[in-house]
Amino acid sequence: MTAWNSFTGDEVAALTRGDSFFVAPGERDCPSCGEHRLRAYFTAPENARRPTLVSYVWCAGCDKFVGTRARHPEGLVLSDPLATLSVAERRELERSLTGFLAHLDRLWDDGVLPQTFAA
Ligand SMILES: [Zn+2]
Repeated sequence: MTAWNSFTGDEVAALTRGDSFFVAPGERDCPSCGEHRLRAYFTAPENARRPTLVSYVWCAGCDKFVGTRARHPEGLVLSDPLATLSVAERRELERSLTGFLAHLDRLWDDGVLPQTFAA
């Protein structure tokens, strides 16, 4: 199984430059290995106390990732391919970060991801 490593601080900073994922959700260049295999998934947890957007950004080339929580941008509507899962299924999937990222990567390979965004 893939051993995921974290992006460095400089690499994370580089991720925030350029077009927003919400505008250009396709694969992009990885700030670490340079391959055009950087992917992202966003989800809005329903049990958050205030509107929250959780993001997972990973590279299918060098197996680096970063996860963040941020305020949900006002008016942003996103599709969530995992929304069809039951709470128990979802919890099981998210139990292991390694397994969760592998699942997201498969969804991308299958064309289920990237999700769609509307503001
Ligand atoms: Zn990479």
